[in-house]
Amino acid sequence: MMASVKIDIAEDTLLVGISASPGIAIAKAHLVNRSQVCAIERRIGESEVEAEIAAFRDAVEATRIQLQQIKQSSVDQVLTDHLYILDTHLLILEDQMLIGETVTLIGSELINAEGAFNRTLRKLRQAFETIDDQYLRERKSDIDAVGDRVMRNLFGETRESLTNLDSQVVVVAHDLSPGDTLQMDKSKVIGFVTDVGGRTSHTAILARSMGIPAVVGLETVTSIVPNGLPMIIDGLSGSVILNPSSETFREYLEKKKQYDYLERELDVYCPLPAVTLDGYRLALRGNIDFVDEIPVVIERGGEGIGLFRTEFLFMSAEGPPSEDQQFAIYRDAALQMAPHPVTIRTLDVGGDKFVPEFNLDDETNPVMGLRAVRFSLKEVSLFRTQLRAILRASYFGPLRIMFPMISGVAEIRSCKQFLDRIRQELVAEGIPVAEKVPVGVMIETPSAVLIAELLAKEVDFFSVGTNDLIQYCLAIDRANEHVAYLYEPMHPAVLRALSQVCKAAAAAGIEVAMCGEMAGEQMYSLVLIALGFNELSMNPASISRIKRIMRQARISEFQPFADQLLQMATADEISRALEGEMHRRFPSVFSLEQI
Ligand code: PEP
Ligand code: MG
Repeated sequence: MMASVKIDIAEDTLLVGISASPGIAIAKAHLVNRSQVCAIERRIGESEVEAEIAAFRDAVEATRIQLQQIKQSSVDQVLTDHLYILDTHLLILEDQMLIGETVTLIGSELINAEGAFNRTLRKLRQAFETIDDQYLRERKSDIDAVGDRVMRNLFGETRESLTNLDSQVVVVAHDLSPGDTLQMDKSKVIGFVTDVGGRTSHTAILARSMGIPAVVGLETVTSIVPNGLPMIIDGLSGSVILNPSSETFREYLEKKKQYDYLERELDVYCPLPAVTLDGYRLALRGNIDFVDEIPVVIERGGEGIGLFRTEFLFMSAEGPPSEDQQFAIYRDAALQMAPHPVTIRTLDVGGDKFVPEFNLDDETNPVMGLRAVRFSLKEVSLFRTQLRAILRASYFGPLRIMFPMISGVAEIRSCKQFLDRIRQELVAEGIPVAEKVPVGVMIETPSAVLIAELLAKEVDFFSVGTNDLIQYCLAIDRANEHVAYLYEPMHPAVLRALSQVCKAAAAAGIEVAMCGEMAGEQMYSLVLIALGFNELSMNPASISRIKRIMRQARISEFQPFADQLLQMATADEISRALEGEMHRRFPSVFSLEQI
């Protein structure tokens, strides 16, 4: 049950953030911000001690029951693999230092339960911070998670787990960790809003792949919104309305109906080929984090997986998944998607893809640090395990391998040599491997663009990761809401970079794909085809949108306009020209976007 809230927020309070995923969600807020729990210490009389201790014990017991319930109700295989986290939390609840000491403090210091518990938590956190062992030190987050849950039970404020929600909610979070997402009951969480993030931060990408509305980069939303507050997310415009008046509520209900209706209309495009009126045929593929997203890609008319982000497999397991575990996952992906290919990207950790197990948090500048393929080439045993698993799985269906964040020819050569060695090892062990496993590089760094012509000689395909390429090209942090306004896919530098990459691929006769978020934006689709992309890979929900545009367009007519865009000087100029042109060509499509 969601606790009722005392509302002291003015009706129709408007917050404006960054639109991360389209659609409209109307529901009550479900706060997932641990730092929001603010305990107030208060002195109590001797006569109150017993009641405070009883309240504390009740809160601990309520927490224990909640954790057990979450554990038992997890039927999802992906979740089941991660239940060990809940076991750790249950063990913490039995910790004498945490529980016994709080009870003692209430009596000895004559302070209320939340104050005493807060002191104990603080002490325990400090103790953890001084531990030398990095792994143990990071278990502090488990103490925080348990502490938060007990505290909310003490307040009588139900902070429901994301697996155990009674009704549909909008999640309000500072940011969402992969763990939060894993726990999420996807039928109940109908929208996200977050303090941090930009359009291509991982929370945003995730919301789009779940097909739920999201607004990110709201900066202070978690400090404004109390749990249970009615709110509206307008993912189309990037706005959030708190405590809506009945008039606003009705207006948005109408908008939502219209939006949902138009979305359903898109279904007709799912089974149709991705081809323009003048015969340009493209491979439209899906980006996934987990194998269980493949049926959605197929349902939305995707012809393969253009990006399987494998780091999520590593984020959620107790340690890195074993070769056999990875093999089973990749084989499953290949079998489900055949005859279309699955492009497996090797581990891309670092930057905003933080994996606690890998101790990456010491870097001053992780986005430029030991990220992606740099990490793999250093941690060769992890790399070997992953490549062995992919090669073994390649025997069961068409797989492709893609290396992230390549910045030079030497790097890709090292990867290929390593891959060859592993292939030989497997063959020597008598393990079957596909004859040909295409190898590609992600074009994500300015250096890769500048030497695209050299890289093209080394690989079978390119896949442009615009989320990173734009970040590195324009020197703006993709997850930083303060510089989000500078994140401009239509910056002349970006357009020219894309054009250069396509030309290099065409000259070498290799395929060129795009798997950054830009690939799924209707506004850019014709420009990308005119530039020469053969494949666009995106969140599955966008596939039918791009098909709709393609099936009503002639690239031969659009080409001269695309050439003009490449001559323009500013992002603003290009964007305005493109928007004007696309609205003129597809008035109904783009007016739909702006209901
Ligand atoms: C990209 O950078 O565009 C990309 C697809 O990779 P990721 O978003 O996982 O960094
Ligand atoms: Mg990237």
